[in-house]
Amino acid sequence: MTGEAAKYLYDMSEGSADMRTILGGKGANLAEMKRLGIPVPDGFTVSTAACVDTMRAGGEWPDGLWEDVQTSLERLEERTGRTLGGQNPLLLSVRSGAVFSMPGMMDTILNLGISDDTVEALAAQAENPRFAWDSYRRFLQMYGDVVEGVPPHLYEDELTSLKARRGVEQDTELSTEDLQELVATFKDVSRRELGRELPTDPHEQLRRAIDAVFRSWDTPRARVYRKANDIPDDLGTAVNVMQMVFGNRGETSATGVCFTRNPSTGEHELYGEFLVNAQGEDVVAGIRTPRPLTEMEQVLPQAYEQLVQTMRDLEAHYKDMQDIEFTVEEGTLYLLQTRNGKRTAAAALKVARDMVEEGVLTREEALQRVEPGQLDQLLHPAIDAEHGRTPVTKGLPASPGAAVGEVVFDADIAARRGEAGEAVVLVRYETTPDDIHGVIQAQGVLTAHGGMTSHAAVVARGMGKPCVAGANAIRINTSERTLSIGDRVFHEGDVITLDGSTGHVYGEALELVPPQINEDFAAILGWADEVRRLGVRANADTGEDAAKARELGAAGIGLCRTEHMFMAADRLPAVREMILADDEDARAQALEKILPMQQEDFEAIFTAMKGLPVTVRLLDPPLHEFLPSLVDQSLLVQRLELTGGDAGELDRAKVLLGQVKRLHELNPMLGTRGCRLAMLYPEIPAMQARAIVRAALAVREREGETAGVEIMIPLVAYAAELQSQRRVVEEAVAEELESAGAELEVSVGTMIELPRACVVADQIAEHADFFSFGTNDLTQTGIGISRDDAEGGFLSAYVAEEVIPSNPFESIDRDGVGGLVQIGAEKGRAAKPGLKLGVCGEHGGDPASIALFEELGLDYVSCSPFRVPIARFAAARAVLGGQKRADG
Ligand code: PEP
Ligand code: MG
Repeated sequence: MTGEAAKYLYDMSEGSADMRTILGGKGANLAEMKRLGIPVPDGFTVSTAACVDTMRAGGEWPDGLWEDVQTSLERLEERTGRTLGGQNPLLLSVRSGAVFSMPGMMDTILNLGISDDTVEALAAQAENPRFAWDSYRRFLQMYGDVVEGVPPHLYEDELTSLKARRGVEQDTELSTEDLQELVATFKDVSRRELGRELPTDPHEQLRRAIDAVFRSWDTPRARVYRKANDIPDDLGTAVNVMQMVFGNRGETSATGVCFTRNPSTGEHELYGEFLVNAQGEDVVAGIRTPRPLTEMEQVLPQAYEQLVQTMRDLEAHYKDMQDIEFTVEEGTLYLLQTRNGKRTAAAALKVARDMVEEGVLTREEALQRVEPGQLDQLLHPAIDAEHGRTPVTKGLPASPGAAVGEVVFDADIAARRGEAGEAVVLVRYETTPDDIHGVIQAQGVLTAHGGMTSHAAVVARGMGKPCVAGANAIRINTSERTLSIGDRVFHEGDVITLDGSTGHVYGEALELVPPQINEDFAAILGWADEVRRLGVRANADTGEDAAKARELGAAGIGLCRTEHMFMAADRLPAVREMILADDEDARAQALEKILPMQQEDFEAIFTAMKGLPVTVRLLDPPLHEFLPSLVDQSLLVQRLELTGGDAGELDRAKVLLGQVKRLHELNPMLGTRGCRLAMLYPEIPAMQARAIVRAALAVREREGETAGVEIMIPLVAYAAELQSQRRVVEEAVAEELESAGAELEVSVGTMIELPRACVVADQIAEHADFFSFGTNDLTQTGIGISRDDAEGGFLSAYVAEEVIPSNPFESIDRDGVGGLVQIGAEKGRAAKPGLKLGVCGEHGGDPASIALFEELGLDYVSCSPFRVPIARFAAARAVLGGQKRADG
């Protein structure tokens, strides 16, 4: 510390786009626009640090903050020639603005500075009493709700009832007198609810409004949004205090939202909406259905032209698609916000690719415009174009993709059922930020109301959830829990399908088809391949999966698990025979039956992967997994005894029960599995090695080429285990090759999935041609948790309570398990320079984990076939230093 007081306040002229951490996205971009000469209302920003320091002090403002605000305000008053609360009244907007944008999640207060003392002066100045009273009622409503916590529907109900009494539909049809009456009613509502008057001093209101915005950082919905978007909780929000400009000053005033490209598809076209004689909240909240931006050309031609030019300038300046809020006050355009627009994955890819073609971005910059995790959206099933069904209704195609699920009408229910793994579609009149937890867990969102920039649409696009908005033919009855479309009535639990790309809604579950990699995706993956260093393989154990993986760009198989081959119904009898065998001969006979089946599987896989390496892992699970459970078998014996059935059957059941009991273990995950099993029954790995060699030779014979054979020993803890297993495998391989009179290169390596293996990796490396880190088991054994027991139990509580940042089975525990990988990699390579190192746990498909594996200099990752494109992309981002991009 320098001893100097922290600087909390910044005039807009002091800031710039690169001060986002201090000023938040909105403040930084407003300052930048001012620097660029784009018309923005004047103002100042209270920094994120002020919010953070206030939160740290339990809600107490730091010393001097209020004095600083007042000084900044005085300067603003001087610049504008207006005074807060004076007879030449300065009206303010007080808006949140975090480092990473969180649309609609935090609070805003507009029209601050209006009071009984100033409303007449404002009316006289504007020569428009209606506008002044409209602003006043808006202020009371927003301030009461956001700052004082009055339930907002109390004001809405009064507004609706007044409109009904006057026989009008739109707020804009209310007269000045109506609005005056509403102001009085709103004051009554606040008084009744709070048991006191609202503060009437605008300075006091300003202090409380800033404080409310600070507090809105910590609302449940903001927390949920941050968690869903990996935004840290300790960043705080800035507060932008700006002179109001008014879109509600009559027919030459308007407010709107626009994107420089289509955020659903990425198409380079005008996309936006506006409302004449309205304030910003009316558009975003979806309260009045706004008009498409193109219509503004007729209504406000000059402002329109200026807006279109500004959109072009801003996009060129930021080299990214912009999401813009604007207001036109009596024909004059003002920009209230610009930020990098939230977009779907498809749009992100198209925009990135187009911008490279337009010469705006380099390929490397383009790669940094796409979040790797977001690509997951494109790898989900889509609606089959050939379905030929008739939709029951149509809304706006607000966010593309297919959602099939049961109708639910409540965000809490959507959240609960979605979390339990059920497919639900959230149906709402319109969504509000408080529905965020339900939106996250739903397959998709259908709303009756609101436009393409409504809350539901913006949030759904940001998350890649399908959304159909503004389907105004639907009627929702939340108390009866029904959705009516014409004369069809859907009850909670009925299944519908949304097509977010066309806006169609179907009253049934439509067939979905596997995803396709479109041209934009393929082009960008091609660029990623040029940049990345890590190899990407797939985990696959059938020929079909292997072929899919290859099609998606896998450079081989990093993990072919062999246990599924043992579990298939037609194989289980032979496998049980092997397990039940009394002696080696009987076991050998059973294994002879299994060998050709294994060989057939390997042939399919090697054919699909010819020319590429395939790592086959020898049998891993404990033998009891191939037998009935102890409980089931005991019950069967008991039943046969009681019913006095066939004696032969009872005998067989008893023998099996005896074996089940012998193999029963208290902690099978830590029991006789992996190479431990193979050490007890070396005939099993020997049989597998023979099947592998025979398959490789058969494929070479048939196809002229075979896969690169790598045999992997699981769950090694001691160098001696690998030494022994390597010998078993090599002997079997040598015998097979000799009897076939052929040659084949076979490498033998090991999984590193136990902490001991990491620590003694130098000893193990002496017997290994390669290591593959099994980060699933390494997470279980490294942290000491059983995945099956933990994920449904304490682990989710740990994540919810932020004891740990995320589920360590999904994203690697960097410090702990990551540290073990580092030790294993370093020791392994110290003993054997150039030792090939891979990862085949599920983390191999997780972008954040891939970033760590890049840092540790591993050679490749291996993940499920459908994550291969994400891994290819994430590996490139890891090279480019793929930091999360601030889009606010
Ligand atoms: C691992 O442990 O990471 C691994 C890939 O093996 P499995 O998931 O089959 O135990
Ligand atoms: Mg494992």
